[in-house]
Amino acid sequence: MTEQLLEWLPRRLLEHVSDAVVVTDDQLDPPSPHIVDANDAWERLTGCKLSDALGQTPAFLESGCSADTQRISLERLRQCLEDGRGFDAEVDVGSGGTRGRMDWRVEPISDPTGMSAGFAFVARRTGAESRTDTTNAFHVIHELRDLLKGQPLDLARKRQQVARTAMHLSGAEAGVVEQAEGTEMVYQAVAGAAEGLEATRLPIQGSASGYCHTSGEALLIADTRTDSRTQLGAQAADIGFRSGVLVPLVHGDQRFGVLKVFSSKWAAFGQAERDFVVILAGLLAAVMYRTRSYELEAGRRRHLVDALPMLVAYVDADRRYREVNAAYADWFGQPISEVLGKSVWELIGESAYERIRPYMDRALETGEPVSYEETVTFPNDHPTVISVDYAPNVASDGSVAGVYALVRDVTKAKAADLDHLTELPNRRRFEEEAHRQIEVHRRHGRPLSLIIADIDHLKWWNDTQGHLIGDRIIKQIAELLRGQARATDLVARWGGEEFVILAPETDLDGAATLAERVRAQLASEPQPEGEAATLSLGVAEAHGDDLSLRGLIRAADDALYAAKDAGRNRVV
Ligand code: GH3
Ligand code: MG
Ligand code: MG
Repeated sequence: MTEQLLEWLPRRLLEHVSDAVVVTDDQLDPPSPHIVDANDAWERLTGCKLSDALGQTPAFLESGCSADTQRISLERLRQCLEDGRGFDAEVDVGSGGTRGRMDWRVEPISDPTGMSAGFAFVARRTGAESRTDTTNAFHVIHELRDLLKGQPLDLARKRQQVARTAMHLSGAEAGVVEQAEGTEMVYQAVAGAAEGLEATRLPIQGSASGYCHTSGEALLIADTRTDSRTQLGAQAADIGFRSGVLVPLVHGDQRFGVLKVFSSKWAAFGQAERDFVVILAGLLAAVMYRTRSYELEAGRRRHLVDALPMLVAYVDADRRYREVNAAYADWFGQPISEVLGKSVWELIGESAYERIRPYMDRALETGEPVSYEETVTFPNDHPTVISVDYAPNVASDGSVAGVYALVRDVTKAKAADLDHLTELPNRRRFEEEAHRQIEVHRRHGRPLSLIIADIDHLKWWNDTQGHLIGDRIIKQIAELLRGQARATDLVARWGGEEFVILAPETDLDGAATLAERVRAQLASEPQPEGEAATLSLGVAEAHGDDLSLRGLIRAADDALYAAKDAGRNRVV
């Protein structure tokens, strides 16, 4: 926070203020905020050193006060931050020869994104010095605070405010913010006598602001008729510009344009007026810099999110789309502007919504992340397998404001995991899932069994009845296995005419019973060609900690060979 604060609050701004200014961070938990900066004027007025003040609490500013007379309490600072309004405090300061009383004006300050960043303490020594003399620093800090709050990206309003403030503070008749665009300077914001001149364009070459922008030099022009640098002559006189202050809007290595104030009177401005315009120009440039970085950053993120080959959305608690990426336009054939504000069911259709609704309910009700895979049918579309992650956006009071949703089309990936002929999971898919099951078995010692089934004499069926009959038998057996197995059993096509069933929560007896049921059922129904097709099945149960998938398969395979050896159409 501190670094950010000092980044946008230009150091030179503090140096241009003749009043003592001390800046703290916004730490409101005890002990209290810490001093992060102070200007030369403060060192001069108090006789203290900045190095002694850094890291101290504001109590340091009122050294000499006992705790109960401290005027700048945490409570007051907190209130000040809440109200967004400053307060005045009069306290004793210093010691020995530099003892005195000080008026402090305390203002909350925020960074250009509107986040609270800290406090500015602006002081004027009371007593000997006159108190009637307006403390311009109060105005500046006040304007500064005002400038930096509100909508973070409301640059137009901020430009306008700076044009007006610069005019007021310098006693000018007009204030203008100009931005460089190609070879021209364009009036972006105008105040006072310059009103009506909005969008005026002047060539950079040959205009005073063009000179200021390109040279990076702040100009104090006493008389446009005689100024040798800018040679404005009659053109300036037309808009009532006889004398003026022009300051480039520069932040870091970026130049944005010029802040200009002017008067129809000759030599209306001095060093003090120039200083105020410099302060405001520095401030506006910092805001512009931040805004530009923010926009670039936001643009980059937008690009990134739009480039993702998946749907990315933010859905609020009313189930309406608040943010969607470009993929929405592709998937649903509607521009993003149409999608925003629509409810989920309106966009994806009743049928798909009914499918996903329980998951969305859960994410919105519990605030817990929810992931799932479902087959849904969007309007005018075929069934799509989607893989979805919901990340709820939980507010600080625990309520769920909405969910971030990531939706991928995994139809193809799913299809790649399925065997074409039988639509059973293929070997790759089986192995993936089997490893997970074995892990559960290993960790919790739950029973787990494996059955391997091999069609008897399939070669004979192929050779005598044709390959298509062989295929039909394979499909029929796949159906049979699917029908007999439990939902939690994993049935897969292991190879050509071999199948596997991984049965969690099933011991050897249970698995053997299942195998026998399958065998008996197949053998009891003759094929249309006359004979019944038969299966041999080997069964094994997982044992021990050092169990591997390979070991389990070998055990079941051995049993299968034994079944083949013993005459086929049996379970071992
Ligand atoms: P057994 O297992 O009883 O020892 O005899 P078998 O004839 O079934 O075994 P074998 O290993 O000798 O032959 C396997 C046969 O399965 C040969 C192969 O053409 C057939 N087969 C494998 N995949 C398919 C397929 O997708 N479709 C058809 N129609 N046949 C297949
Ligand atoms: Mg075989
Ligand atoms: Mg076989």
